[in-house]
Formats: sequence, C-alpha cells, structure tokens
Amino acid sequence: MAKIAVLPGDGIGPEIIDEAVKVLKVLNLPLEMASAPVGGAGYEASGHPLPDATLQLAKDSDAILFGAVGDWKYDTLDRPLRPEQAILGLRKALGLFANFRPAICYEQLTHASSLKPELVAGLDILIIRELTGDIYFGQPRGRRVATDGHFPGAEEAFDTMRYSRPEIERIAHVAFQAARKRQGRVTSVDKANVLETFQFWKDVVTDVAKEYPDVTLDHMYVDNAAMQLVKEPKRFDVVVTGNMFGDILSDEASMLTGSIGMLPSASLNTKNQGLYEPSHGSAPDIAGKGIANPLATILSAAMMLRYSLNDAANADRIESAVKDVLAQGLRTPDIYSDGTRKVGTAEMGDAVVQALQK
Ligand code: NAD
Repeated sequence: MAKIAVLPGDGIGPEIIDEAVKVLKVLNLPLEMASAPVGGAGYEASGHPLPDATLQLAKDSDAILFGAVGDWKYDTLDRPLRPEQAILGLRKALGLFANFRPAICYEQLTHASSLKPELVAGLDILIIRELTGDIYFGQPRGRRVATDGHFPGAEEAFDTMRYSRPEIERIAHVAFQAARKRQGRVTSVDKANVLETFQFWKDVVTDVAKEYPDVTLDHMYVDNAAMQLVKEPKRFDVVVTGNMFGDILSDEASMLTGSIGMLPSASLNTKNQGLYEPSHGSAPDIAGKGIANPLATILSAAMMLRYSLNDAANADRIESAVKDVLAQGLRTPDIYSDGTRKVGTAEMGDAVVQALQK
C-alpha cells in the first residue's frame, strides 16, 4: 500500500486538493492518504509553517500531494516563519533535487496562449530543472569591499556558481530516463561558451548520454533556448538545465500554455519520492469562492502516479479524463471563453470523476 501525505496548505489549497483526492479515490488504488497542515495552516496549528508532525508524515510517505501555501496576512512574520518556507524545508529535508515542469497546451485552450495557435497546438514539453545546486546555493556568497575588479574599494556583492560531477550526473540520468517514457529526445541547456561551470555541465551530460544510446541528445545555449521556446516551442521534448536557467525557462515555457490553473509540477529525490503540486500559488484573491481551477492539482496527482508510484496507466487515464472535460466545453472562470460552460471547482472535479467512470 503506497502512503501519500496530503498537505492542502492555504488559500485555494484545500479546495483544489479536495478535488484531486476525489479523483484518486475513484480509481480505487491501494493508497493510504493522510492529511496534515502546512504553510499558514501549519503556523496556525503549531506555530511553524512546517510542523514536526507534518515533516515526519512527509518523510514517511512515498509521495506528497501539496496544494499551495501563502497569504498576505503572514507577510509581516519573520522570514523563517512565513508559509513559503515550508516548501523550502520539504525540498531540503527530502533532498528533492529534480524539478519537473511540463508545459502542455490542450487543443481546446490554444487561444489562451499569447503565441499563435499553430505554434502551440499540441505542445508537450517537459522542463527538468536541477533544484538544489547552482548559483542559488553555492558558497561563498555575500557582500564586501572590492579589492580588485573595475572599482577597487567599492561595496560589492557576489554569489558562486558551482556544480559537482555527481550533481550533474544524477539530474542527467533523470532527464534521459524521462525522455525514454516520452519522445526520446533531450536538450541540455547551458552557457558553455562563457561559463566554466556550464562547460563542465555539458561535458558530464555528454558522458551520461553514452548510457542512453536510444535517446537523442543535443545542446543549446540558454539565450538561444529562451528564443526557441517562443519561436518554435514544439521542437523540444525534454529540456534539462541548471537551477537558475531552469527557473527562468520553466516559467517561460509554462506561460506558452496561457493558463496557470492547468500546470502541474513535481520535485523528486533519488528514491523517486516526490512532492507534487500545481505550479500556481494559493490565490488568496479567489480563495473560498469555489471558482479555483483544480485541474493543475488533478494533473499533479497524475504525475504522482506516473513518477513516484510507477502507475503510468492510471496517470494516462486521469490525463485523458482532463482532456475529456475540456472537450465537453467545461471551464472554470480562469480558462472561460465564449461558447463554453462556466463551472466551479467542485463541478470541474466531479466532471473529471465522471469522465473516469465512463
Ligand atoms: P498565485 O499563483 O497564487 O496567483 C496569481 C493569479 O493567478 C491570481 O490572480 C490568482 O487568482 C490566479 N490563479 C492562481 N491559481 C489559480 C487557479 N488554480 N485557478 C484560477 N486562478 C488561479 O500567485 P500570487 O498571487 O503571486 O501569490 C499568492 C500567494 O501564493 C503568495 O502568498 C505567494 O507567496 C504564494 N505562492 C505559493 C506558491 C506555492 O505554494 N508553491 C507558489 C507561488 C506563490
């Protein structure tokens, strides 16, 4: 029996998680789901955004289904007590180094993209971002008085970009294995022409590729990748890159689909234990109104089945059910357009359940 930690969080978190749990339950899988407070809800319950009991539950589970955290009422708290710290705490405690951000453009929603429909119709890209290294975590970092450079004696700040061979190898393996379950193509994004760290990245990814002769690898500079994502996004299958480039490119790619309420994500560790969450936040502006789009969370549950529970068949079933409800013309307000039918959060979840039962 697989154990799932269900962490609804704040704002629309509980509403959208309810719908994902509803969908998982109808599949009748051998899952044991246990819920715990996190984020602002964790702070209210026990004075910390990631209460000990919640962290323990997460550690003891095969996967975590996470809603969203945050609310402006916590903005005045000290930084370590803010809701968003719960995500950083979970990433660190579980060693979640591989971030999966798919960008899929559903046929019925092509008009929501800022690009021409023919450029995005049928788009299905998976961006894999290394999540625990790079310039975001490299030491040393800080502020000091410059002793050299263009302005010796001036105040300056600095960070350190660094990657070790094992860090690059493990994210490369994740990318090649993911590509095997897709179209079998990996694009490694770097800045090898300027940065030593990314020449090394390129060399190590090239070494790892030798173990995957069935997968095609190409390399692209990050500036070109940013351009190609808006020029010809369908050329990509799996894109793998470092923490900083991945941060930027995954947001760019996700916006190609035009709708934040549709985008799932996953963060995995070496044991395939994962945290699955929608790419959006807690949307306090619409919380409690029953109008949030639950599809990103439902699709995150599908990713959980695929990547942590090795159940691609049921993941496919959920994804097809989502396509089915879109084809029926059902839309939450964020994706509504003329000629479609506006529904609320629960009605959308119910429709996915019905599509699964067909
Ligand atoms: P947000 O993603 O919560 O909302 C941005 C806009 O998108 C809002 O207008 C919101 O109504 C809309 N939106 C988001 N999800 C939606 C959905 N499922 N259905 C319909 N509309 C949706 O980002 P924000 O407003 O910048 O941040 C709000 C709070 O969320 C902040 O406290 C922020 O720190 C937090 N946040 C949390 C996470 C997370 O939990 N992983 C991620 C980003 C932001």
